[in-house]
Amino acid sequence: MSDPLTHALDLHAEREGRPPTVLVDMDDVLCRWEDHFVSSRRRLFPHIPVADAGSRESFDLFTGFSEEERAATVTVVDEPGFFAALEPVPGGVEAVGEMVGAGIDVAVCTSPWLSNPTCASDKLRWVQEHLGAELADATVITRDKTRVLGDVLIDDKPQVTGAVRPRWSLLRFTRHYNRLLAGPRIDDWSQWRAGLARVLADRLEGRPRSR
Ligand SMILES: [Mg+2]
Repeated sequence: MSDPLTHALDLHAEREGRPPTVLVDMDDVLCRWEDHFVSSRRRLFPHIPVADAGSRESFDLFTGFSEEERAATVTVVDEPGFFAALEPVPGGVEAVGEMVGAGIDVAVCTSPWLSNPTCASDKLRWVQEHLGAELADATVITRDKTRVLGDVLIDDKPQVTGAVRPRWSLLRFTRHYNRLLAGPRIDDWSQWRAGLARVLADRLEGRPRSR
């Protein structure tokens, strides 16, 4: 008896004639965005309080904050090099390597912070440094992830919406601001096999063979 992920991958190959494509978000999924944000905010604006990393109730960084807080946030996140300096989330780099090793088609899928002049190139550099050239080649930088083809998107954003109905199923990466939402999730990277197996199995249920 194979484990649930191997079973789901075999079934996917049989039904679809290809391995699944898994899209993986960067900020607060592969990269410790919030940790760096909070420490940078406190370094640059020590007089403006900011919630501890991991305690933020809202994904949105601006609603409900004062003009001074919003201006401080923009200054921090617009700092050139901000996105290249992020530490990896524990287990994420290893999980992506294991996915590739299992034959899964993996692509990094990330939204740029448009007003940061080095964000997009820093994100590519981060992927190149931590995940290697092949994953850098397979990185999609877009403001609208609904337009990206894939079977599963692993993301921390509470609702991933855009111009079209997405083809992928969302596998949430648990963060404080999404913890109460229903739907499949992984709380950390140690759970990726079981989480991915569940989402793939749900997608394949009842789907006929393609050939
Ligand atoms: Mg994110």
